[in-house]
Amino acid sequence: MSDQPGLDSVLRAAARAASVLAGTEPGTRADWLRAIADDLDANAAELIELAQAETHLPEARLTGEVKRTTFQLRLTADAVVEGSWLEVAIDHPDPDWPTGPRPDLRRMLRPVGPVLVVAASNFPFAFSVAGGDTATALGAGCPVVLKTHPGHPRLSERTGEIVRAALDRSGAPAGTFALISSEADAQAAMRDPRIKAGSFTGSIRGGRALFDIATGRPDPVPFYGELGSVNPVFVLPSAMQQRQSETLSGFVGSFTLGVGQFCTKPGVLFVPHSQSALDELAELVGGVAAAPPLNDRIKQGFTGRLAELRELWQPVHEGAETPEGLTPSLFATTMDEALGDLDGLFEEAFGPASVVVAYEDPAELVTIARRLPGQLTATVHGDEDDPSAPELLSVLAGHAGRIVWNGWPTGVSVTWAMQHGGAWPATTASLHTSVGPTALRRFVAPVAFQDVPESLLPPAVRDDNPLKIWQRVDGTLTPPA
Ligand code: NAP
Repeated sequence: MSDQPGLDSVLRAAARAASVLAGTEPGTRADWLRAIADDLDANAAELIELAQAETHLPEARLTGEVKRTTFQLRLTADAVVEGSWLEVAIDHPDPDWPTGPRPDLRRMLRPVGPVLVVAASNFPFAFSVAGGDTATALGAGCPVVLKTHPGHPRLSERTGEIVRAALDRSGAPAGTFALISSEADAQAAMRDPRIKAGSFTGSIRGGRALFDIATGRPDPVPFYGELGSVNPVFVLPSAMQQRQSETLSGFVGSFTLGVGQFCTKPGVLFVPHSQSALDELAELVGGVAAAPPLNDRIKQGFTGRLAELRELWQPVHEGAETPEGLTPSLFATTMDEALGDLDGLFEEAFGPASVVVAYEDPAELVTIARRLPGQLTATVHGDEDDPSAPELLSVLAGHAGRIVWNGWPTGVSVTWAMQHGGAWPATTASLHTSVGPTALRRFVAPVAFQDVPESLLPPAVRDDNPLKIWQRVDGTLTPPA
């Protein structure tokens, strides 16, 4: 990207913009997000064409992704104005407070400062230049320095132009948003004291490297990496007895969707031992058409992992590389073998491959669930009165960010109650989500003002509540008047 300014001037401008952004009202930043959404919608046809050329993703998928991206910008804008994410608490002075006389205390969350956002390959809109990380960082009041993904450089540059133009038109200060494109610049930015947080979607290796920089620097900062997940699916005997074909075809549809290049792809399926189920799966997988992977790097990574899966497990159906792209592969093993190599079982294959584990006794599901590394999702298929369900759900809730019941994990709704996160290695920060308005929480830090005169307080924590937001006043959650 030849017209990009040097990293130092990008960071200098971001640091200058940070203090301006911290003083903007939520409504102002909401207008910026809505302007970006409007301009992306207006340029959708051009952007989708660029994305198709660079990612090989089909037009219908990309059209849906642009819609999701502009929706998430607008939903974030609404949330920013609604203000509950600021977690405002106002405690008036109280001479009789049980722990001693209480001063006037007002707590809120405020933006941390410039954020390095590292874009993903597999969602060229929703997790890229104008994706959820950008929306929530800007919405929270943080300038964004965005590292583009090399898998869609022209799309990134054009989207960046649109974002910058929308911000300029809406009056955002210079330095609010900038692109960088090299790995070296991403690392240097993460090391730089002017960057106050990082966010990332991609490989465990890349995410770990940046996490180590963020947390190992003299002034460690938070780093929100979304990395690898195998999203196990547990099929209870009741589901197999009552709807075997529906369950198995749903699984094949989910693990082959988008050429298996979703972070929520189900990479392991636990089913009661049954030859008929394996035969049915082989036929279903054999019927899936070839489709091109995102790029050569993803293909190489997937091919390497496929070779390992071949060494580890029995083939149910062997996929192939054809002129049209990749066809899916499915492997099988027993619960005993799986328990003997949990590292092999729970390592992600980013592409169209999955592993079926046949179990004899549903009690084994709880045993293996207790040993699950952190996951974005875990899914259970069964009936409400299945005796294994309560304990399994309870164990899984401690290992995965989202528990899916009789559904499929691919497809992540952008909404307030979504949790898209999980313990390592699903993410580097299990306390947060990267999808939904709650993702704003990643880019703000608490501050309490003690005995500061009302006229000097930020609007969010004033008694007259000019922002008209929810405030916890003297312990009671209070709606705006
Ligand atoms: P990746 O190789 O981790 O790259 C993601 C981004 O991080 C790229 O912009 C890359 O830039 C940058 N990056 C990687 N290593 C870095 C480092 N050491 N220092 C600074 N920046 C670094 O991921 P990918 O190319 O998108 O996909 C590869 C694998 O990631 C997949 O096979 C899959 O396992 C995983 N993945 C996971 C998700 C998820 O949602 N969890 C999504 C996509 C991919 P450069 O290329 O310029 O270094």
